[in-house]
Amino acid sequence: MELLDRFLKYVKIPTASNSKSKTSPSTNSQFLLANLLYEELKDLGINDIYYDKEKCYIYAVLKGNEKYSKVGFISHLDTSEDVSSDKINPIIHYNYDGSIIKLENEIIIDPESYPSLKKKIGKTIITADGTSLLGADDKAGIAEIMNMLEYFSKNECEHGDIYVCFTPDEEIGNGVENFSYEKFPVDYAYTVDGYAAGEISYNNFNAATAYIEIEGINTHTGTAKGKMVNALRVAQELDSMLPNERPENTEGAEGFYHLYHINGSSSKSSMDYLIRDFNFKSFKDRKKVLENIVDKLCKKYGIKIKINIEDSYYNMYEVIKDNFYIIENALAATEKVRVEMKPVLTRGGTDGTRLSSNGIPCPNLGIGGDAFHSVYEYVCYEDMQAESDILIGIVKESAKRYKA
Ligand SMILES: [Zn+2]
Repeated sequence: MELLDRFLKYVKIPTASNSKSKTSPSTNSQFLLANLLYEELKDLGINDIYYDKEKCYIYAVLKGNEKYSKVGFISHLDTSEDVSSDKINPIIHYNYDGSIIKLENEIIIDPESYPSLKKKIGKTIITADGTSLLGADDKAGIAEIMNMLEYFSKNECEHGDIYVCFTPDEEIGNGVENFSYEKFPVDYAYTVDGYAAGEISYNNFNAATAYIEIEGINTHTGTAKGKMVNALRVAQELDSMLPNERPENTEGAEGFYHLYHINGSSSKSSMDYLIRDFNFKSFKDRKKVLENIVDKLCKKYGIKIKINIEDSYYNMYEVIKDNFYIIENALAATEKVRVEMKPVLTRGGTDGTRLSSNGIPCPNLGIGGDAFHSVYEYVCYEDMQAESDILIGIVKESAKRYKA
């Protein structure tokens, strides 16, 4: 099947996840896509497919030569709930001329706002019609993976075991919630869920959340002098003592403190912070800084301030750096299709972040699109083809490497 046909078929199935749902998967619509992929995998003659029909995960393996390392690829079935996706009408703009793309509802995709479009002149651009998102995130990734599998199922060439997994609910942070490591016994894997073709990310934030509770001293305001300690004002003071490294004024490799929740009264207040840093040492230092401030304020006012810091996830680079051939494989594959490899920093976490911590080094690859989670979302079809070729190349590179 043509990559384009695959992609169009997948995006027409609306699969938005739902962060308010109590079930997993969060929406039943994700099963519709999973069912289709299950049938398509069978049609490709894949030897071994496991469809978790309760939690909506598909694992499949195309067996290869056991002497090579086992490589895996992962994409997610769901799409973002941020924008409507009840009905998706993909529009193909052949031979894109570089001008503003006009869609329904007076939606325009302007290359000035989305500069990545400027490099796509003469190529094929696919968008939705202006009333919904496209859902290329992550159906372009799924289509590219399926296309890669089709290649190896039809062509005789040396490869190791190729594992694929399609997961639900990535967009609401539950992509690997019910993931089975047993069904995915790979040496390393790649999530196919980034932006531009050739992009690779193997650096993400170390992340923690700090929960702070301040117990003030409340008195009658008329007789408060020298006695009252206003928990809201202590919260204010605490925040002002932090360095001015906030999400709104940091970028690239810079970390931050993000006050995302504050609540309370003069007698008791609570504050929650996200702590983010790429570097593990400065991540630890940031936590220390916050604890020291709390300590100082406790002493200054003679009050109780509780601080509880919970780590959320870690930079996968700590795992990748000892297995750098995973990146070199991608580099070699990317060069072969004459695309420039672009390492990017992920100012957040990916499903691969969790997998990396749990023993599967798992960088993230681009899919050939931009402006995801919006009505401006687009993919470039030639870039999707290039990315699928990169996946094929990665498998071939992996087959140059014998299992340790
Ligand atoms: Zn995604």
